Amino acid sequence: MKAAIASSDTLFVLFGASGDLAWRMVVPALFDLYLDKHLPERFRLLAVGRSDAGDAALAEHYFKGVAENSRRGAPPPDAWQAFCGMIRHIRIDVSAPEDFSKLGKALEIYETEWGGKAERVFYLATPPSLFERIALGLGAAGLSQDRDHVRMVVEKPLGNDLDSFRRINDALCRIFEERQLFRIDHYLGKETVQNILAMRFANPIFEPIWNRRYVDHVTITVAETLGVGKRGGYYEHAGALRDMVQNHLLQLLCLVAMEPPVAYDADDIRDKKVDVLHAVRPIPRDTVDSFAARGQYAEGWIQGAKLAPYRDEADVDPHSNTETYAALKLYVDNWRWQDVPFYLRTGKCLAASVSEISIRFRDVPHRAFPASAGLNAQPTRLIIQMSPEQGIVLKFMAKEPGSQLRLRLVDMRFSYMEAFKTDTPAAYETLLRDVMVGDATLFMRADQVEAAWKLVMPILDVWAENPAADFPNYAAGTWGPESADLLVARDGNSWL
Ligand code: NDP
Repeated sequence: MKAAIASSDTLFVLFGASGDLAWRMVVPALFDLYLDKHLPERFRLLAVGRSDAGDAALAEHYFKGVAENSRRGAPPPDAWQAFCGMIRHIRIDVSAPEDFSKLGKALEIYETEWGGKAERVFYLATPPSLFERIALGLGAAGLSQDRDHVRMVVEKPLGNDLDSFRRINDALCRIFEERQLFRIDHYLGKETVQNILAMRFANPIFEPIWNRRYVDHVTITVAETLGVGKRGGYYEHAGALRDMVQNHLLQLLCLVAMEPPVAYDADDIRDKKVDVLHAVRPIPRDTVDSFAARGQYAEGWIQGAKLAPYRDEADVDPHSNTETYAALKLYVDNWRWQDVPFYLRTGKCLAASVSEISIRFRDVPHRAFPASAGLNAQPTRLIIQMSPEQGIVLKFMAKEPGSQLRLRLVDMRFSYMEAFKTDTPAAYETLLRDVMVGDATLFMRADQVEAAWKLVMPILDVWAENPAADFPNYAAGTWGPESADLLVARDGNSWL
């Protein structure tokens, strides 16, 4: 059961404190939690870095990060001063074992001052290549041992492929127990993503039709208008399949396709999700072209602005074979979903920034209306909108007013903003609070990550061995390559 407020004293140790993720996501989320009184009264953010930056320089750096990235904008001065009072910079060289003992002593000083054990959260916002070293350092200094009060948070991507995931994970699991490990997929912290479960399992009307008898196919879209920005170096080695599909899109698939949990608790929900991944039909190497499409953006226009091709971005190979777009067709081989295609797509520099899941229902079994009524013009769909709108839309047929019998698709809309009239917390706020109260429901268990890697590996391998002959193959500002449209068109479907 989730507590609303982390009530125990908490020492939050942030490795990679000078990095982009800390600046854009972690610290703004912690500050918003502070404003909402979701941080415990006794809380310290220990910002670990290898530079000599002092507390004041760090606070100034974070001020800008909060002003630009918090959902509330510039911090109110008094609250900011109070929050800064809880930040301490600690200089640590992660390759020096004695520095971990130094960290341990710093933690003990707070606990002595507070008169008891605190929750200790180690958050690794560093390159994944350091995860093993930091885990070993913490382990050797005896900082991982209090299983009930020590947690480790690691960012995605966990590895670059199945082998590297296993290596990193084995290292983490040598030092920490699974219940101490919180693997972030920030998509799972989004309100609308969590609401998929509420919609499906807190209402009696959806579950009876949520299966192969009524659902024709499902599309999951996570589209961005942005390019790679300053992260070309990272993206060049990742690509859309690793960066988005292996984690976010497969997690969305799990939420849509999973069986009802017995209880809303971490293990039960994660069991049901991993069942979905185990049921996904593997894609043999020689059929990759029939089940996956890839793209890379050429120059183009988005909202009146001209965009350079991916290959011209900073830190990107001018002959790059990295995909900035990926689409998959998957089948979930179980009683509920047999033969229902799930189409997944994601990409950069697309026509719109949209994240949504569309459930397309089967056509009516018998057409009682004359063809002139236009019954088959468009099918009934349920759309779960995650961004930019947050809501649920049911598109269904209605009669147009007038003496003629004409049917038209209309929308029944539910909007979170209108219904709840409140700002929703950012995904990182939800996830950080959950870490502090020890609730792992929205985090990925090792078997989930492993199953997701297994699923995408044949595609990654085939794509790496066979550079795309047609890259770049879609103009920035469009909906991606033709091959992705063909992927669904071959089944008589479309992305809409
Ligand atoms: P940055 O490169 O911006 O920051 C990396 C941080 O790690 C810096 O604080 C850096 O310190 C520190 N670091 C790097 N090398 C060493 C080293 N050898 N010893 C000690 N510290 C080191 O990366 P990001 O913040 O973008 O990413 C951090 C993690 O989060 C990565 O795992 C990334 O994949 C993941 N992530 C990032 C996202 C983002 O939007 N940025 C989104 C999702 C995941 P220094 O300043 O001294 O170099």
